Amino acid sequence: MSTLNVKKVGTGFLLEYGDVRLALDTGIKGETTLLSHSHADHIGGLKNAGHIIATSGTFDTLEARGNSYSKNITLIRIGDTFGQIGVNITALNAGHVLGSTMFHLEFNDGLTVLFTGDFNNVDSFVHTAAEPVEADVLITEATYGQPEWIFPERKSVYDNILDTATTIIDEGRIPLFSAYSLGKSQEAIGLLQSGGFRIISGNISIDKVCSVYNNHGVDLRHYTLSSLGLSDILESGAVVVSASIRHTLNNIRRSGNNETAKYLEQKMEKYSLSGWTLGKFRERGFPLSAHTDFKGLIEFAKAVNPRVAYVFTGSASEFSEHLSAEGINAVPLE
Ligand SMILES: [Zn+2]
Repeated sequence: MSTLNVKKVGTGFLLEYGDVRLALDTGIKGETTLLSHSHADHIGGLKNAGHIIATSGTFDTLEARGNSYSKNITLIRIGDTFGQIGVNITALNAGHVLGSTMFHLEFNDGLTVLFTGDFNNVDSFVHTAAEPVEADVLITEATYGQPEWIFPERKSVYDNILDTATTIIDEGRIPLFSAYSLGKSQEAIGLLQSGGFRIISGNISIDKVCSVYNNHGVDLRHYTLSSLGLSDILESGAVVVSASIRHTLNNIRRSGNNETAKYLEQKMEKYSLSGWTLGKFRERGFPLSAHTDFKGLIEFAKAVNPRVAYVFTGSASEFSEHLSAEGINAVPLE
């Protein structure tokens, strides 16, 4: 019987079992990487990877964000299994951002492992919820792995965002929602579009990722900073979605539109879209998260029903204790 080894390397992990070595969310010289998604904190050292397995959504968003890999890549579709390197690797939807994947591994002797990457267990406007599958070993994220992180129903968060946008526009001001350029911005744009708002994307990084979503069949329509008549659009009642307000204002200024930048700066009412807005030092905003909350993490782990769980990210050691209290032997990966 082989021993399973999982250790932290770079932005991810090295998993070893028998003759199989797999890098998870990091690049290790000459090794195969299973890449769960393209957020910056999961893609370290990819240039070193000997082989990368990921979905087309992950490769396309990587490229849209300035990283491209054409050499020795394997595209895997959600639901498909790749079995050419001594282990059956099945891609499962992670519900976090476009293309985000959990990997279910089945070794020759029957041992199974589930690696979640970042995941979300609730449906959003543009992503579908991750579903648990049973595995002997679970390697799970725990970004919100402490009991104080319980998010409200997504529907009520959505309603609050739409109501606030309406109120702010009625007051003659400009609602600006700040959100990560990959995933959250597209969710915000999809939501605001459903509410009939005129939406301006504040960053080219958002525009590029939106076009990948459009190519993957998610219908997102918005104005960009280079749209004709930007100041008229702003003055007639619009919503801005921005990943960086500083860049948004600088880009407007750079296009020679100082007055428009000044108008936006004076009129904007900023709201963050993030789970962290629930926190102690919270910014004004709404707890719209691309991650599972504490309750969801516990429920998910129980449904996977592993013999051992390895826990990574922010609250790894606290969440390991909570899992152990639930009867799941858990080890933080730090
Ligand atoms: Zn992520």
